[in-house]
Amino acid sequence: MKNKIIIVGGGASGLMAAIVAARNGAEVTILEKNDRVGKKLLATGNGRCNYTNEDVRLVHFHGSDKAFIEKALSIFGRDSVIDFFEHLGIAPASEDNGKIYPLSFQASSVLDVLRYESDRLGVEVRVNCSVSKIARDGKFKIYLKSGENLTADRVILATGGMAMPVSGSDGNGYPIAKSLGHKAIPATPSLVQLKLKSDKLKQINGTKVVGKASLFIDGELIKEDYGDILFTDYGISGPPILQLSREAVIALEGSRRVRLDVSIILNKSEEELLGYLEKRRGWMPEKRLEEFLIGMINKRLIIPVIKELKLDKDKLTKDISVDELRRIAHLLTCWSFDVIGHNGWGQAQTTAGGVLTKDIDPATMESKLVKGLYFAGELLDVDGDCGGYNLQWAWTSGYIAGNSASVKF
Ligand SMILES: Cc1cc2nc3c(=O)[nH]c(=O)nc-3n(C[C@H](O)[C@H](O)[C@H](O)COP(=O)(O)OP(=O)(O)OC[C@H]3O[C@@H](n4cnc5c(N)ncnc54)[C@H](O)[C@@H]3O)c2cc1C
Repeated sequence: MKNKIIIVGGGASGLMAAIVAARNGAEVTILEKNDRVGKKLLATGNGRCNYTNEDVRLVHFHGSDKAFIEKALSIFGRDSVIDFFEHLGIAPASEDNGKIYPLSFQASSVLDVLRYESDRLGVEVRVNCSVSKIARDGKFKIYLKSGENLTADRVILATGGMAMPVSGSDGNGYPIAKSLGHKAIPATPSLVQLKLKSDKLKQINGTKVVGKASLFIDGELIKEDYGDILFTDYGISGPPILQLSREAVIALEGSRRVRLDVSIILNKSEEELLGYLEKRRGWMPEKRLEEFLIGMINKRLIIPVIKELKLDKDKLTKDISVDELRRIAHLLTCWSFDVIGHNGWGQAQTTAGGVLTKDIDPATMESKLVKGLYFAGELLDVDGDCGGYNLQWAWTSGYIAGNSASVKF
């Protein structure tokens, strides 16, 4: 008789687990509370699906147990993901920072091939099917919100975290895991935009710079990142900000002081910039300060910068003192903002925290507390940087869970 496996959640990790288990000959049913599977997948990578990265070193993954993540990645890592998808038709294409997308640059291609393969393998997909409770009594009993009950030999929980709740992952997997004896680290939004305290936001809203952002917590430098930074009416966004947001959000939740220093001049130290400004002053002594900065920084930032420094925009360059030049150099390389919040679950791309991995075996994704119960995806206390790492984790954990849950009894 075939093993009956129920997978709760038809997202990235659930679909991967279903395919692998069905290939091993198991009878697989996916229960998905949305009216279709893979809703979030379609939104990934701005609709292009950055499904892994050339560089999948452990440093790009976070969680309370790095050894757990390392073990899992050693079983089904980047090459396995690329190979798995290539055999389903997804040709890989690399972009900046090693990000790997389907050559079609369409997230829908990734979902299509997963759906075609699970259909081909006879995976039963039940949509509009929300699981409210799971109990273990010999077999697993799965209770649906509709009142219906199902039974299974093995269950894979792949309900996602809390990021983008409209996609279905609204955190309801945590109470289910807890009711089965598992503990979870409180979930916090990650890869999310940050809110800043500044009276200049209205003026600089929509301005993009290529620069560096440095995160300070209680005055201590924690992390820096470079790239496209966007000022908005609420604060700040862009890839470097998302990369710093995990630590920033956790610190904010702990009521710690969070500061961002933004350099809007890339690759120049304050000293180098001061030297350059002094030379520049000699080249254009009759220009007003407002004109002097044109060509060096984004034009929309000139007046806000001058206002922030409380300088006179009409002052002639030749009359600007070295001390004033130093203050300009300092602000352009280190514009300090207090971080006062973040954009919340609706805008976050992933979840920091989740089901504690110390109670799960990384070689099988099986619970050490409940035999026959498996976990996959963002529900676990594992998250990644921006760059394909969260999907890599979904594929890795989904593969391992699907493969081990379908091993013969
Ligand atoms: C806007 C956005 C862009 C992103 N872009 C990228 C990217 O380019 N690269 C990358 O690596 N990562 C990206 N991510 C993160 C990545 O999409 C997720 O980490 C990944 O999808 C997690 O997979 P999962 O299977 O754990 O959960 P999900 O994909 O969230 O799937 C969980 C599924 O479970 C269902 N479910 C939940 N509870 C129940 C229940 N009780 N009963 C039945 N079904 C249930 C949900 O409806 C959902 O379909 C992005 C995230 C967002 C929000």
